[in-house]
Amino acid sequence: MGKPLYIKIKEQDNVAIAVDEIKAGSEVMEGVWARQNIPQAHKIALIDIPKGGEIIRYGVILGYAVTPISKGDWINEHMLELPEPPDVDSMEFGTNLVTELPEPPVAVWEGYTNPNGGPAGTRNLLGISTTVQCVTSVLNVAVEKMRRELLPKYPNVDDIVPINHAYGCGVAIDAPEAKVPIRALRNLSKHPNFGGQMMVVGLGCEKFSVNMLCDEADITEENVIILQDKKGFDDMIGSLMDMAEKKLKILNERKREPLPLSDLLVGMQCGGSDAFSGVTANPAAGYASDMLVKGGATVLFSEVTEVRDGVYLLAQRCVNEEVGKKLAEEMKWYDNYLKEGDVDRSANTTPGNKKGGLANIVEKAMGSITKSGTSPIVEVLSPAEKPTKKGLIYAATPASDIVCGPCQLASGIGLQVFMTGRGTPYGLAMAPVIKVCSRNNMKDHWMDLIDVNAGPIATGEATIEEIGILLFHEIIDVASGRKHTCAEKYRLHNDMCIFNPAPIT
Ligand code: CA
Repeated sequence: MGKPLYIKIKEQDNVAIAVDEIKAGSEVMEGVWARQNIPQAHKIALIDIPKGGEIIRYGVILGYAVTPISKGDWINEHMLELPEPPDVDSMEFGTNLVTELPEPPVAVWEGYTNPNGGPAGTRNLLGISTTVQCVTSVLNVAVEKMRRELLPKYPNVDDIVPINHAYGCGVAIDAPEAKVPIRALRNLSKHPNFGGQMMVVGLGCEKFSVNMLCDEADITEENVIILQDKKGFDDMIGSLMDMAEKKLKILNERKREPLPLSDLLVGMQCGGSDAFSGVTANPAAGYASDMLVKGGATVLFSEVTEVRDGVYLLAQRCVNEEVGKKLAEEMKWYDNYLKEGDVDRSANTTPGNKKGGLANIVEKAMGSITKSGTSPIVEVLSPAEKPTKKGLIYAATPASDIVCGPCQLASGIGLQVFMTGRGTPYGLAMAPVIKVCSRNNMKDHWMDLIDVNAGPIATGEATIEEIGILLFHEIIDVASGRKHTCAEKYRLHNDMCIFNPAPIT
């Protein structure tokens, strides 16, 4: 049997996607000839579709034909009219609770227990929190000096990570939605990878003061440096170096120990998606997620605009009405947030998504949610909240990669699994990111930036299950520090873009 030419997902689908470019005139399946060249990952019509007719993939309506479409036509993003989003007020909850999940091949990993309680650490880092962007310039100079002069003396510490961000001053600090960035920065300062050590740098005149960032007990001379209290630049650098060294000494004593999967918190995200993402990389991640959940671990998935069109499917997987109602609330909050900016969920898709065959946000969402596997959803979190349950959790965040990352870190993830079709060098300084690509050409092209290739699923050389198990092992090995990701090797770290839905003054 040769390599398949197309992938059709559900029996009722009236389109399929091209595994590789299909030349005009080729017979794609019995009775269907391509009428134009069909680019890789793009859709071909399997039947004639009249104007206004449904275009169906994943068994759902992606949109309605703008003009009549003939069997064998290439269907691009200009040919679909977007349907209305699903109503979140009439969803059914808890009607699809899957209890049979795949058994994980291992039950133990090696991590750093968290003195603050909660999930364990996957790396040993000195985290330096900041209250305001104004301190970044000085802190960056100090961190460079710390890495050069201090870090080599403390070999058990992996790195020094300043949490530089754009929040802190010139913001409407009393606006109701200011709670989101404030919660994010507070939770980030206590990330499991920081081993319970607080180091905070403030300026002294900012709105987001040290007592808004820290618990009262943490505001001590051992933990906090205010730059305006220091006499000149050298004094600032000297104080930062002294404090860092004291913290590094303590952190250097941290040791990995065997831990149950219930101490592991993993985040799932996708970015630069293509039409393969939903049939290869994301379902493989979903399979790994199901195994993690079965083993007692906690898995977060996010990205509101990328679940919005499949939200009723998630509602059916919510363990009870309370969880389901929170899901609906988060969707409404985001609908409203977008509406205030005079856009809707369709603003999500990128030129790269479209080039990769994703015609609209419905198609993107149906692929995106497959990364959640099949487990029941035990909790729904607002952006940057910490989980209180174990199992699969929906953590509402923007879909933007660089904003979702910090939100999930604030929720306490020790590791992120990131699926991509088009490719992105995305990485986080605070936790390792495992990059999973959706197609073989991506792995060939970026061989040293992609950790796991899910492409063989599209070509029939591997199953979702096989890549899912491979990814599960990768997650355990990276979390346990036995392996480092490509992004870690090259120190690819995106900025900490903190979600701030409140106004800037
Ligand atoms: Ca994303």
